[in-house]
Amino acid sequence: MGVDAEYGHVVSETANTGQATAARPSTILIVGGGPAGLFAAERLSARGHKVTLVERMPSVGRKLMMAGRGGLNLTHSEGLKDFLTRYGNDAKPIVGAIHGFRPNELILWAHGLGQDTFVGTSGRVFPKAMKASPLLRAWLQRLRAQGVEIVTGERWVGWDGNGQMLFRLEKSGAEAGSHRRPADAVVLALGGASWPRLGADGNWTEFLRTHGMAVTPWQPANAGVHIAWSPLMRDKFAGTPLKRIGVTVAGGGQVHGEAMVTRNGLEGGAIYAVGAELRRVMADGPGVLHLDLKPGMTVGELSKALARPRGKQSLANHLRKSAGMPPVMVAMLHESFGRSLPAEPEALAAAIKNVPLTVTGFAGLERAISSAGGLALEEIDARGMLLKQPGVFVAGEMLDWDAPTGGYLLQACFATGKLAADGVMAWLAAKSASDAVSAAVATPIGTGA
Ligand SMILES: Cc1cc2nc3c(=O)[nH]c(=O)nc-3n(C[C@H](O)[C@H](O)[C@H](O)COP(=O)(O)OP(=O)(O)OC[C@H]3O[C@@H](n4cnc5c(N)ncnc54)[C@H](O)[C@@H]3O)c2cc1C
Repeated sequence: MGVDAEYGHVVSETANTGQATAARPSTILIVGGGPAGLFAAERLSARGHKVTLVERMPSVGRKLMMAGRGGLNLTHSEGLKDFLTRYGNDAKPIVGAIHGFRPNELILWAHGLGQDTFVGTSGRVFPKAMKASPLLRAWLQRLRAQGVEIVTGERWVGWDGNGQMLFRLEKSGAEAGSHRRPADAVVLALGGASWPRLGADGNWTEFLRTHGMAVTPWQPANAGVHIAWSPLMRDKFAGTPLKRIGVTVAGGGQVHGEAMVTRNGLEGGAIYAVGAELRRVMADGPGVLHLDLKPGMTVGELSKALARPRGKQSLANHLRKSAGMPPVMVAMLHESFGRSLPAEPEALAAAIKNVPLTVTGFAGLERAISSAGGLALEEIDARGMLLKQPGVFVAGEMLDWDAPTGGYLLQACFATGKLAADGVMAWLAAKSASDAVSAAVATPIGTGA
């Protein structure tokens, strides 16, 4: 008996012909029907394994569908070196996984499902259809064709005393009994804890904690921030975008992008991008966002523009005409500086380029795009397997990593889905090989077996 090095299939050689024949395909259980779980299912079923994917909601891919509502940002076109910096310094397994499934591979995969892509002005990559539904439809068709069984409406509720996976029908309530689903290997892809009504509610953390695994508490990531606006700001400008701004936290690097005024504060890509830094700062006290409303101009250039004679124009008109600033930016200046907003061009220019806003908190998990926290990365090996539960692999947002919006979230979910699937195959192959050695050792010489 030997092992197919690439795919981990166990093959046995018949004594007479030396011909290789495939052994029994392994039964693999995947829990969670988001991008990470679906991708693991695709890869494992493509290699001939019998895959059952169990999802607690009535259908799979609900968060993916929601992600497509604002334009499905699949990945990013920037160079890999810069790309990988988006995951911070503490996410080595995630970086390793992305080395194994790079942005261009995700793009090719989407093309393979008939979804052409384009690169937006910000470098983000989207399917031409923008939404997720055509991609998900084609994907599910492929999975069905590869024999993946998808079971919906069942929640994983932990392990029994023998390490068997326990499930309960979602509709039956907590008091109902559970049933077992045996498997040769398992991939958990249960998601994080944001937008719980889409399925990923983070309830699985207790099952892993019970088995002695470290789980970092959930926090909203890529979430809006709360700012105590004046009634004028809230009522007049909620829903208004702030285009081409710079955002800084605690003297860190400036992030360029867009934000949107909400009734409670600000949201949008530029705000999400500084979220991790802001959370760190706010662990010790209040957080302050510094907005640069004119990142494309130096203080000198701006003060020169503002030095043009103002005549009888209102400040709002003057700022609009001389510096191209819309009313929402002028309101932002008043909001931050109040009566102390300087009139002298150079001081005014400096104020425009550094508008401090005190952040009182983050929007909750229920509306955050992603969540920070989850299963500690120290709990898995380089193949994505739980060190304390061999044969169980983990993928996607349920792991404790964090990244800004820009396609980095989906890329990491796909990449860890692939890592886990490949890990399953390698693990099964190694197990079969060692079982075969044990069997051979146990077989008495001369039996001809
Ligand atoms: C509004 C919004 C917009 C977004 N836009 C983008 C974007 O444009 N680009 C991007 O990169 N990312 C985006 N994201 C983030 C991205 O969608 C997620 O990071 C990604 O879906 C996570 O994939 P996952 O497979 O790890 O988890 P999920 O997609 O959350 O899937 C996990 C699945 O597991 C199931 N599950 C959980 N617990 C159990 C259990 N006990 N038993 C059985 N099943 C269970 C859940 O029901 C769920 O279906 C967006 C998210 C939101 C909310």
